[in-house]
Amino acid sequence: MHVLEQAGYEVYIVGGAVRDFLCERTIHDYDLTTNASPAEMQELFRDYQTNTQGLKHGTLGVILQGRKTEITTYRQDNSYTDHRHPGNVIFTRSVQEDCARRDFTINAMVYHPDTGIQDFFGGIQDLDNQIIRTVGDPAQRFEEDALRIMRAIRFSAELGFTIEPATDTAIFQKKEDLRYIAVERLQEELIRILGAQHGTEVISRYLPVLQVFLPEIAAVPEQIRTLPAVPEMRMAALLSAVPEASVHGILTRMKFSREFCAHTEEMIQSLAMPLKNRTDLKYMLNRMRTPFGDLLTFKSAFDHSIQKSRMMALYGDIQNMGDCYRLKDLKINGEDMIRIGFRNQEIGKALQVILEQVIEGKLLNEKTSLTAYAEDLFHSGYTDKL
Ligand code: ATP
Ligand code: MG
Repeated sequence: MHVLEQAGYEVYIVGGAVRDFLCERTIHDYDLTTNASPAEMQELFRDYQTNTQGLKHGTLGVILQGRKTEITTYRQDNSYTDHRHPGNVIFTRSVQEDCARRDFTINAMVYHPDTGIQDFFGGIQDLDNQIIRTVGDPAQRFEEDALRIMRAIRFSAELGFTIEPATDTAIFQKKEDLRYIAVERLQEELIRILGAQHGTEVISRYLPVLQVFLPEIAAVPEQIRTLPAVPEMRMAALLSAVPEASVHGILTRMKFSREFCAHTEEMIQSLAMPLKNRTDLKYMLNRMRTPFGDLLTFKSAFDHSIQKSRMMALYGDIQNMGDCYRLKDLKINGEDMIRIGFRNQEIGKALQVILEQVIEGKLLNEKTSLTAYAEDLFHSGYTDKL
């Protein structure tokens, strides 16, 4: 702000930082708005580390003390051509016009240390009443940019605010326009909804909106209410009634990260696995990479017969006793198997058979007994059956 003002420009803090400051939430980044043009900003910040990707839309990213601050030239967004991006960006000299193009009243306030808050659209009142309301006609604002539909729902989930009736009606009326939005953007908002404090209530209320891009989810299972606000867990709950064969396809279509997909899928798979004793637990640890505590929390929400604290204690004991439940902990390895005579894929398959014997406590995890068992397996014609 100092750099811009020294050069004679106006600059304000805008958007999320002002909103979060007013409702005493932690501010995680700052967005600034200024009457300096993109070229003028670039010149002023030439000695700083910057990101110029958004410059044609008026946004310069400036890295200050390792944190990115986005500075955007006052903008008026007139015609929207694709339900997402303004067809032509018009820069303006008026901060009020810049606020008018912003999505919600609570996001359309500016702050300056010398002049305080400027609130052109009743943002403070809506914050006080915990209401999310578009700036201007909601149907028109959602038609311009359908991502705002997801943002409204996301802010409602994060802040616990109610969506104002006309805005709410327009959400349902315009929800089909979400088809124009890139899946990456939908996914980002969805993850934030899933991880939000008020996520489950909001997901139930706005399920028809999410169904536009997730038609496979027919209903919100009641178990979701007892789960912690962990996106993977809530996503797994939403997909728990979907045929298991379709789950992976849905998650990859939404372009969730590899890790997100793996954890979500494993939680769903865990529902079909028994979990009553030490052997069951070791089979689960053998098959899954998701932290056991998460699997247990998830599974217990769906199956009340699970003895949660007993299973957690057993898990601790398995770790302390060094029970073997992974191939890498087995005291026999691929080279040993080759020496015995196993070849190619036979090696992994036979090792898994041996591991399962160890998991079930039918075989000790020590070299001589494992080798003897492997030799028996080889000479019993096991490989012929593969
Ligand atoms: P958070 O950072 O918590 O996501 P935020 O409100 O700062 O919340 P940003 O995506 O960082 O959200 O956007 C900064 C500001 O830009 C918003 O507060 C809003 O004023 C405006 N804005 C962002 N996206 C849109 C949009 N799709 N339509 C209109 N205005 C938007
Ligand atoms: Mg922000």
